[in-house]
Amino acid sequence: MDRLLTYDEALDRILAAISSPLPAESTPLANALGRVLGEAVTSRVSLPPWDNSSMDGYAIRAADVTGAADAAPSRLAVVGEVRAGQAPDATVGAGQAIRIATGAPIPPGADAVVPVEATTPLDPAGVATGPRGREATGPLPARIDVHAAVVPGAWIRREASDLAAGTTVLPAGTTLTPAAIGLVAAIGLDTVRVHRRPTVGVVTTGDEIRQPGEPLGPAGIPDANGPALMAMVEASGAQAVSLGLALDRIDDVRARFHAGLADGLDVIIASGGVSVGPYDVVRSAFEPFGSIDLWRVAVQPGKPFAFGRRRLEDETGAEPGTAETLFFGLPGNPVSTFVTFELFVRPALRRLAGLPDAELARPVDRAILLDAVTKDAGRRAFIRVVADRDPTTRTPIRDEMGRVRVRLAGGQGSHVLSALAAAEALAVIPEDGPTRPAGSAVDLIWLGS
Ligand code: AMP
Ligand code: MG
Repeated sequence: MDRLLTYDEALDRILAAISSPLPAESTPLANALGRVLGEAVTSRVSLPPWDNSSMDGYAIRAADVTGAADAAPSRLAVVGEVRAGQAPDATVGAGQAIRIATGAPIPPGADAVVPVEATTPLDPAGVATGPRGREATGPLPARIDVHAAVVPGAWIRREASDLAAGTTVLPAGTTLTPAAIGLVAAIGLDTVRVHRRPTVGVVTTGDEIRQPGEPLGPAGIPDANGPALMAMVEASGAQAVSLGLALDRIDDVRARFHAGLADGLDVIIASGGVSVGPYDVVRSAFEPFGSIDLWRVAVQPGKPFAFGRRRLEDETGAEPGTAETLFFGLPGNPVSTFVTFELFVRPALRRLAGLPDAELARPVDRAILLDAVTKDAGRRAFIRVVADRDPTTRTPIRDEMGRVRVRLAGGQGSHVLSALAAAEALAVIPEDGPTRPAGSAVDLIWLGS
C-alpha cells in the first residue's frame, strides 16, 4: 500500500465487512439492560388499561359540586370504596361518592375525582369525624363535605392516555435503558428479542509485557492494554474474553488466535506487534486463518493498524457456517490502542450489537482549543483534552456560538496514559497542516462510558 488510508476509508472498509448485526435472541427483561432490540416492541394493551384515579379521594359527579367552596361545601353520601387492585362494585349516583385510591378504576357513574384534601369526613348525622384532608384511610365515613368544585374529568387518568393498544412503543435498534425496560414491563412482557452481544477476545503481545504481580525485571512493563481493552469492550456493550499475553513469537500469538477462533468469538483484538519490525508478528500469526491487511491509516495517534477476517473454512475446526470472526490488530502504544479502538473497533462492535448506523459513532460537538498543537501534516489528530467548566454547575463553558472551551489534558505522546485518563474528550484536528494556533475551532468527541 503506497498511500495512507484516510480515517473515512478505513472506517468504511471495516463497516462494509459487517453485513448484518448478530442475530436476535429472546432474553429475559432482567438481563436486557443495554442490549439492542432486534425487533420492534408493540403493545397489546392500552396504558392505562382503564380510567383510573390519579389521587386518593372520592369518585363523584362533577355536577354535584359545582357550587362547592370553603364556606359552602357540597355534602355527598359515601356509598362504597374502591381500592387499587379492586374492581368497583358500586355505582356513583346523584349526590353520592365512592372513596377511591390512587390507581383504582373509576367506578361507573362517576365523572371526576375530588382529592381527599378537599373533603371533610362526616358521620351519618353530619358531624365531622376528623379534620379536613385527613388521610384517605381508616373507617369509611358515612358522608363527606366537598370544599371545592371540580370539572368533569378532574384527577382521572384516561384509558390509553399513555399509549393505545397496537402502538409500537420501541422501534428495532433501540438500546434498552432502565426507562425502556420499565415500559416493556408495563405492557406486560417479561422477555425481549435483543441482538446477541458480540464476544470479543483480547490478546496483548510483547516480550516486555508482564502480567500484574509478575516481577518486572530490568526491561519489563505491566500490561496496560489488556485490561484497558477488556474494559473498552465491555463499555461498548460487548462481552470481553481474555486470550492472555503473548510473547513476540508467531507460534504463541497464533495459538491464542486459534483458541479464540475455535471458541467462535465474533471479534479478536490484538494489541502491539502490528508494525513492520522483525518482532511484529501479528500479521503473520493471523495469516493462516483468513485474510488480513496491514493498513497505515492517516490518524494520530495510531497509524499502523491491521484488519482481517477469518476465512470460514479455516484450520480451527470450528463448525462451517459459524459467523465470521473479525480481527483487529491495534498499535501497542497505550494511547494509540485506546484511540484506534475508539475510532474503528467501537463502531464495529456497535454495528454487530444491532445499533443503527447513525448511532455507531459518538455525537460530534464543537469546541475552541485554547492551546496550540503540533501534529503530523496529512494525518487527522485526536488530541486528549479537558473542558473549562463553570465552578458552580460543573457544566462545560460555551462561547456565544455554543463552542466548548477545551485545553490539552496533558502530554500528547502516544505513551502518555496520565493525560488519556484525565481527558474528557478528543479534539479532532483536521489532516492539513502541522500546527494549529491556540483558539482554533475544532470538532469534539466526548468520551463517555
Ligand atoms: P508495539 O506496537 O508492539 O511496537 O508497541 C509499541 C509501544 O507500546 C512499546 O513501547 C510497547 O512497550 C508499548 N506497549 C505494547 N503493548 C503494551 C501493553 N499491553 N501495555 C503497555 N504498553 C504496551
Ligand atoms: Mg511489541
